[in-house]
Amino acid sequence: MSGFLNSIGRLRAPKRSPTTPTNAGFFEPLPSPGVDFGTLPPSPGPRPLYLCQPFVKAALVKGSFKTIVAPPKYVDVNEWVAINLFDFYHNLNHFYGVLTDFCTLQNCPTMSAGPTLNFLWPDQSQRLVSLPAPTYIDFVMSWLQKLLDDESVFPTKSGRDFPQSFAYTAKHIYKHLFRVFAHLYHAHFETVLHLSIEAHFNSLFAHFLAFGREFDLLVIKELMTPQGLGQGVGELAEKWREMGVLEA
Ligand SMILES: [Zn+2]
Repeated sequence: MSGFLNSIGRLRAPKRSPTTPTNAGFFEPLPSPGVDFGTLPPSPGPRPLYLCQPFVKAALVKGSFKTIVAPPKYVDVNEWVAINLFDFYHNLNHFYGVLTDFCTLQNCPTMSAGPTLNFLWPDQSQRLVSLPAPTYIDFVMSWLQKLLDDESVFPTKSGRDFPQSFAYTAKHIYKHLFRVFAHLYHAHFETVLHLSIEAHFNSLFAHFLAFGREFDLLVIKELMTPQGLGQGVGELAEKWREMGVLEA
């Protein structure tokens, strides 16, 4: 994956949108679902480009991700999960940095991830509210940066153990990174294609999904509507399973 990291490293660093409030209205994300599915439209509309050939199979890594996600021998599982979440966060942040000019309050007034799928964020009274996608993503990324810097959650010094609650925190982090992927696929895949970074982006997301499956971080409910239908990237994950990119 070194080629992947090198080419991502050359991309522009993420920047904050000047129209996005960075402090006002920020509250910790809730572990509860916070998903609004709305009502399904009578016709689902055109097929998303990320499900179409040849884009659906564009990837830097061919074959299964099973070996990439398995922890190396003698490495503590918490340590392995922590390192990988850290990498996913940074790599995703690079992609978001490239797409941030397109993810604006005007273009993305909601954190949408499918025709009727919208992610919600808790307000001051823990009521789940709809936010513009750039605000939502800024909240996720700021919250995550704070967590990753917190020595009591992600211990970096030798002799310090991971907290008992680490598995729970990892699941929570994974869910929010997943939502950022879901929005970028749904709302910005055309730009991803325009920038010719779809192979990088697909590889990162397939790696992320395979990792979530290996460590039981992926909450399948996030991919399904209450009617049991895959929506947005849920369909992509399904397609990749059919193609053998992901384990069945
Ligand atoms: Zn957006």
